[in-house]
Amino acid sequence: MGGSPLKTIGLIGGMSWESSAHYYRLVNEAVKARLGGLHSAKVLLASVDFGEVEPLQRAARWDEAGELLNRAALGLERAGADLLLICANTMHKVAGEAVKGVRIPLLHIADVTAEAVRAAGPRKVALLGTRYTMEQDFYRRRLEERHGLEVLVPGPEDRAEVNRVIYEELVLGRIEPRSKGRYLAIIDQLVGAGAQGVIAGCTEIPMLVQQGDVSVPLFDTTELHALAAVERALA
Ligand code: GLU
Repeated sequence: MGGSPLKTIGLIGGMSWESSAHYYRLVNEAVKARLGGLHSAKVLLASVDFGEVEPLQRAARWDEAGELLNRAALGLERAGADLLLICANTMHKVAGEAVKGVRIPLLHIADVTAEAVRAAGPRKVALLGTRYTMEQDFYRRRLEERHGLEVLVPGPEDRAEVNRVIYEELVLGRIEPRSKGRYLAIIDQLVGAGAQGVIAGCTEIPMLVQQGDVSVPLFDTTELHALAAVERALA
C-alpha cells in the first residue's frame, strides 16, 4: 500500500464550484509543500448543485439545505473520508444538520478562521460575506462568544452590495474591477472604524480581494480552511 501518512479529506463543495476548485488546489499544494516528492492530497469531493442550494437559502428553507448537505456528508463518510469540510461560510448555518449521524469530525470554518485571527493578534475584525453570514448569528456569534473577537460589519447598503457581488459575479467566476473598488472602499471604512483585520468570510472573496490590496491583515477563509484540513490530515 505505499504507506501514505495522509488521512482522506472529504470536501462538500459546489457552493460555489469556483471556490471549491481553489480548495482542491490549496490542499494539494499544501501536501506537496509538507511532504515533497510526488505526494498529493487524498480528497473525496461531493459537489452539490448550487442552483439547487441558493433558492433554499433565499427562501429560508434551511432544513432542506441541511438535509442536502447531510446526504453529501454521509456519502463522503461511507466512501472513506476521515474528516469533513463544508467549502463555504454561509452553509455553516446548517452545520449541525449537515453532520447528523456522521461520526467523522467536521472542521468548522469559523473556528479555523478565529484561531488564525487570534494568533495574528487582532481582536476587532471586519467581516465580509453573504448577507446571511454578516447578519445572522450562526457565524458572528461564534466568532464573538467562542473566540472573544469583536466583529464589525458594513452598514445595510454596503452589506447589500457585498452580497450582490458574491451572488451575481463571484460565484459565476466574474471578477469586476468596479466591484473590487467597492469592496476596498467598504474595507477602508471598516478599518477607519477600528477594524484591525478583515475576514474574507465568503470563500469566493479571495478571488476579488487579496492581502496586497488592503492595509490590515486579511484572513482568507478558503486558504485557512484548506490548510487546517491538511494539518489534520497529517496529524
Ligand atoms: N461560498 C460562499 C460562502 O463562503 C457563498 C456561497 C454560498 O452561499 O454558499 O459563504
